[in-house]
Amino acid sequence: MTDCLFCRIVAGDLPADVVHETDRTLAFRDLAPVAPTHVLVVPKDHYDDITALTTADPAYAGELFAAAAEVARLEGLAEGHRMVTNTGEISGQSVRHLHVHVLGGRPMSWPPG
Ligand code: AMP
Repeated sequence: MTDCLFCRIVAGDLPADVVHETDRTLAFRDLAPVAPTHVLVVPKDHYDDITALTTADPAYAGELFAAAAEVARLEGLAEGHRMVTNTGEISGQSVRHLHVHVLGGRPMSWPPG
């Protein structure tokens, strides 16, 4: 069995609050939300980060962000939202399976910490 947390969620081995799914992407609520809406959108296939995916399959990266945009629409965030994908420990990436954070529902400042 894989020890990748998000691969295990995609496989259905771990529970998740799924809000959207396509053939190649899955979106589920973050376990520790930092905004009223906080959804993670992941490729079902394992890629460590956005660099790995865009290098291997740029069209798949497009699908991932299209799914994230659809999640924002479904969550009522058309007025505004933030999408973030961390790459590497220095950025704060703690789960090494590419994920796009879709955040919204409160005012946000820039730059982030
Ligand atoms: P990052 O720091 O960008 O790698 O983000 C990882 C995110 O995954 C964090 O916001 C965590 O709260 C979230 N997370 C960790 N485990 C789970 C889980 N089992 N289900 C949902 N979200 C999770």
